[in-house]
Amino acid sequence: MSSVVCVIGSSNTDMVIKGNKLPAPGETVIGGTFLMNPGGKGANQAVAAARLANGASATTVTFVANVGNDIFGRQALQQFEREGIQTDFVTTDADEPSGVALIGVDSQGENCIMVASGANARLGQAQVAQALAVEMDANATVILLQLETPIPTVEYAIRQSHERGMRVVLNPAPAQLLDSSVLACLHVITPNETEAELLTGVRVTDETTAQQAAQRLHEAGVPNVVITLGARGAYLSTPSGASLIAAPPVTALDTTAAGDCFNGALAVAIAEGRHLPEAVAFACKAASISVTRMGAQASLPHRHEVDALPL
Ligand code: ATP
Repeated sequence: MSSVVCVIGSSNTDMVIKGNKLPAPGETVIGGTFLMNPGGKGANQAVAAARLANGASATTVTFVANVGNDIFGRQALQQFEREGIQTDFVTTDADEPSGVALIGVDSQGENCIMVASGANARLGQAQVAQALAVEMDANATVILLQLETPIPTVEYAIRQSHERGMRVVLNPAPAQLLDSSVLACLHVITPNETEAELLTGVRVTDETTAQQAAQRLHEAGVPNVVITLGARGAYLSTPSGASLIAAPPVTALDTTAAGDCFNGALAVAIAEGRHLPEAVAFACKAASISVTRMGAQASLPHRHEVDALPL
């Protein structure tokens, strides 16, 4: 039977205005250019996984999410289908609009963001239960979660998946604390430096501090820790050893969604049965391609591009 990556998370439409300055409270700033992009950490990670799974393996990518009964929700669903994502568990909410992020960016690249979660805030346990009920071969299934949907739903999904013997990858972004008992149900946690600090209290600046933060997460019950370190790559710590896995050197243009690319790729590689050092190296390669391109989902690479990079 083929393997499955089941992404449970958010879908947003990002509305971006790039202008000279950000408005102060009460101020209207005229000028700038407008862009509308599909986004949301869940959707970005599902698209990353689908592009990386399609070429070489028989991995199916399923997305569990909630969109609104509006133009944004319909566009998102069409986009997921074009990407080859299984959408049986993408529900259209009758009452809430699709999630939207309003993003202002000034000439220095500084931004301010407001997110109306809308339908994402209604992703519930029943929907997760339905999706998990059909994922039959637990050994070949990886569940990938982030923290942009209700925390009780995330914690329920982690516990239920673990009970069924599925491997759970948690990207704890945006950073927030979870019930400590769910940490022991994870297979891998993948914070960036900021998230690792919030979860552990250790300020991660280098390999030594990454090791200290990873140790705290092991003590909390997480068997495998991957701390992403931007251009330096990722620090992997497992019961059988720890190492810094370097990111391929590239000229970065835009790091938006680098973390989402990394997580989608990691989940695919684990579902394919790769050991963690190899899976993290694959994720570093995929994310290094994404940072050489503009945009979020637009920057996510396909499998043949990652396979073309040297080992
Ligand atoms: P973002 O919020 O920008 O999506 P993040 O903060 O979640 O990213 P990072 O640690 O910045 O996560 O990046 C994730 C991964 O992307 C890194 O582990 C690395 O593999 C890759 N990456 C990021 N920046 C670069 C870069 N400049 N060059 C090469 N690879 C990079």
